[in-house]
Amino acid sequence: MTQVTEPSTKEFLAFAKPDLGQEEIDEVVDTLRSGWLTGGPKVAAFEEAIREVAGADYAVALSSCTAGLHLALLALEIGPGDEVITTPLTFAATVNVILHAGATPVLADVNDDDHNISLDDVAARITDKTKAIIPMHYGGQPCDMDGLVALAEQRELRIVEDAAHALGASYKERPIGALTDASVFSFYPIKPITTGQGGMLTTNNEDLADRVRLLSLHGLSKNAWNRYTEKGSAEYQVLAPGFNYAMTDIQAAIGIHQARKIAAFQTRRAAIAALYDELFAALEEVRTPTVHPAIDHAWHLYPIRLHPDRLTIDRAQFIEELRDRGIGTSVHFIPINLHPYYIEHLGMKPGDFPIAEGIYESLISLPIYPRMTDGDVERVADAVREIAANARR
Ligand SMILES: *Cc1c(COP(=O)(O)O)cnc(C)c1O
Repeated sequence: MTQVTEPSTKEFLAFAKPDLGQEEIDEVVDTLRSGWLTGGPKVAAFEEAIREVAGADYAVALSSCTAGLHLALLALEIGPGDEVITTPLTFAATVNVILHAGATPVLADVNDDDHNISLDDVAARITDKTKAIIPMHYGGQPCDMDGLVALAEQRELRIVEDAAHALGASYKERPIGALTDASVFSFYPIKPITTGQGGMLTTNNEDLADRVRLLSLHGLSKNAWNRYTEKGSAEYQVLAPGFNYAMTDIQAAIGIHQARKIAAFQTRRAAIAALYDELFAALEEVRTPTVHPAIDHAWHLYPIRLHPDRLTIDRAQFIEELRDRGIGTSVHFIPINLHPYYIEHLGMKPGDFPIAEGIYESLISLPIYPRMTDGDVERVADAVREIAANARR
């Protein structure tokens, strides 16, 4: 069946959009008026809110998820001579932090079904130098945490989770946030909740939390944070060459209200995913996400995969057709081993990770965010179905 349709002239549907209300605006204004812009009560309240969602004993608010991953590696004393295993199907930050720590990134290929790191391939790449694994919960679907934890215990490795997509997710009814040495969340605008920029590390390890906090505040001794308050003292000591990685109270002001909406956002995202699944059920050109039982998905992403042998157009053309119909999409991710820096400096090359690369070639992330109406979801699904029908082999 071939059908010629005029591109939609409707308003452009963005790939992602934060959901911010008057509460966030008022809280930011209140923070500005209070004069306490960083290291204050709003950061403490936001840490408490995320600590609860993550089911963890400790939470440290930071300037970004990237900062949290970096500090987690430093706090675990991972550095030069050490290898850290992670996935090629991730954002550059996951690999860059390993380099910032002075360690060597080693990639393991992913599972074809859930796009998460393959435990078999991780096991195959462990050497005497391997110190840690950084699993990334792709799109908000938790990795096989029982398998990862068992492997790490057996081989005496640390685990730092890149949980940038996974706030609100759980594995066998246990929230992501306290299942390993550390979990790190992102509050970048398109992530499950936002503070503009921001991140949070959660852990049950008090020493690790203390070390991360210290390193996030220039390495200053504990009594330094209140040095500008009534009770504070100007006496402090530098205990480590730390970083300026703290979250501000302006960011936390947004976060306090975003945190209250996590469950509602997640419910809406899950409903959108269910509606897409239903609308694509009979569409043979498209493969919808595989979801494992016994997990609660954060639905940060809704990635579809095209069946290239059933279509006369490639992924780039498919994305172009969606754009012509006013629909924004993205691709998560260009595999790490295809970027020039890692090719030139780490000896990676195309072909190293056939599963991740195969997924990438047919991958499109469709819009999924709380502000989308069912009508928006239907519009995206109609466009996908129409493009597939026009390009059917
Ligand atoms: C967004 C993202 C990050 C980085 O988060 P920031 O808060 O922007 O530093 C890291 N890893 C993954 C997988 C991401 O998607």
